[in-house]
Amino acid sequence: MTSPASVVLVFLDPAFPDGRLADAAQPQLMVTDQGATRGDGIFETMLAVRGSVRKIQAHLDRLDGSAAALDLSIPGQDDWRRAIATAIAEHQAQYPAPDAGDDELVVKLVVTRGVEGAGSPTAWVQVSPAPAAGRRQRETGIDVILLDRGYDSDVAERAPWLLMGAKTLSYAVNMAALRHARRQGADDVIFLSSDGRVLEGPTSTVLLAHVEESADGTAIKRLITPQLDSGILPGTSQGALFTAAKAAGWELGYGPLEPQDLLDADAVWLISSVRLLAPVNTIDGKQIGTPALQKELTAELTGLYAGIQ
Ligand code: PLP
Repeated sequence: MTSPASVVLVFLDPAFPDGRLADAAQPQLMVTDQGATRGDGIFETMLAVRGSVRKIQAHLDRLDGSAAALDLSIPGQDDWRRAIATAIAEHQAQYPAPDAGDDELVVKLVVTRGVEGAGSPTAWVQVSPAPAAGRRQRETGIDVILLDRGYDSDVAERAPWLLMGAKTLSYAVNMAALRHARRQGADDVIFLSSDGRVLEGPTSTVLLAHVEESADGTAIKRLITPQLDSGILPGTSQGALFTAAKAAGWELGYGPLEPQDLLDADAVWLISSVRLLAPVNTIDGKQIGTPALQKELTAELTGLYAGIQ
């Protein structure tokens, strides 16, 4: 069997308070695990920089929220924190980063409903190096297409069984949308609701900025994201950046947003925990804002984000 590149795996296991280390190159799941047979489970993807997980509390809280939405009983936050620490320490020991300043790891938490009939969840932490492509896109920006997600923007409230605000393992549709974008020569996707609202990316939150000059000549900067109750996943990166931007004097806004709002913006980004802020260069082939202002705003927001723990 080929070994997955530099992956460290730690299972949450009551018999091992700090987590049970497992070989990622060996089979570890039962074929009857409902994560595998039904995609019935939840996950979180976090970034660790120099061994420290960013926004860990927000991720653990969202994991608890997803578990509640699926009626899933999962390990407590202290158990997760210990298993995460074990996995990161093991990764650092096995695969020391060539340059300590460049040490970004993806820390993934997964919980499934477990093996059929067993009645207990399967839970693990997986640590691997951050992909180079995402880092590159922070610099180069991305080309995006708009795709219909087929649900209206009220669906989350009307049909809670669709689990719209939960981070479930059922990401096949999100991955199919990304492949569709790549076939069109684009890098990423912004989903629209069937009633024409801007929703989110398949693995990211949409942000846009407007800059205006006030009567006294100072710049008013406004950062806007789609309404959180429109059937999207509440982004931990968006939440943290909004707090930092507000403290730095930005005005904040929440949709509803339509495609024209994206095209009229001074800058648009897709933001997520691992890739961070990816500036959107074009949407459906149309250029967004001006490159100079986009660059300036990206640098400012990236600087604010860097201060977030
Ligand atoms: N929306 C979706 C559908 C996602 O999958 C993700 C992250 O993977 C996000 C938004 C961004 O969330 P976060 O900033 O917490 O990474």
